Amino acid sequence: MIADSPLYQGMRAKLTAHLREKGIFDENVLQAMQTMPRHYFVPFSLIAYAYEDQALPIACQQTISQPYTVAHQSTLLSVKPNMKILEIGTGSGYQSAILKTMGAMVYTIERHRQLYEETKQLFSTLKLNIATKLGDGYAGWAEFAPFDRIIVTCGAATLPEKLLTQLKTGGIMICPVGEKTQEMTKIIKIDDKNFETTTHGDCYFVPMLSKIEHQSH
Ligand code: SAH
Repeated sequence: MIADSPLYQGMRAKLTAHLREKGIFDENVLQAMQTMPRHYFVPFSLIAYAYEDQALPIACQQTISQPYTVAHQSTLLSVKPNMKILEIGTGSGYQSAILKTMGAMVYTIERHRQLYEETKQLFSTLKLNIATKLGDGYAGWAEFAPFDRIIVTCGAATLPEKLLTQLKTGGIMICPVGEKTQEMTKIIKIDDKNFETTTHGDCYFVPMLSKIEHQSH
């Protein structure tokens, strides 16, 4: 891993200024993105691009989300310290690390064994106390439910409704919903039967797929 340095801190300051210009106003989100090095989470060969506002390829044909997308989803989530947050789609671990830096208790599920193992190791190296699970995110994580917040970081063809049963009353779930491209969807759980749904622009995520994938790529 390449240590953090004033050079990288400067690149992050430019990135957060850019995010501010694009309409990100949540100071806690911007502060977390200034604090947590993104270059820890991208493949070694792509470190030069870590502070560009773009998604980058990671193992298993997946991607680390674009910084703007991480900022947008984290803002929509209205994170408060000590909230219990479930993430579906661990991937590189960057989104989890941002939520952890914001003071949340983070539980994250990944279906690719290789990504699950590599990212779990990275969290341990970085001393980030984040709970990881190899599993199918469609099933959620009943053992630790209910959650204050749920964030889905892969594109679901249709809303994964089962996850809403693991959300607290008054809780928020953010999920990209759609086939080829998705709409960023925010669901507030009013009570067990009533939900308030709003959409927040188009986005593009790798697909949410069922079943654990054991092969390495
Ligand atoms: N939050 C990640 C985004 C990674 S891309 C980051 O910041 O890097 C989305 C991830 O969702 C991929 O790693 C993919 O394997 C995973 N994924 C897709 N469907 C899933 C499912 N049903 N359960 C768990 N993870 C899933």
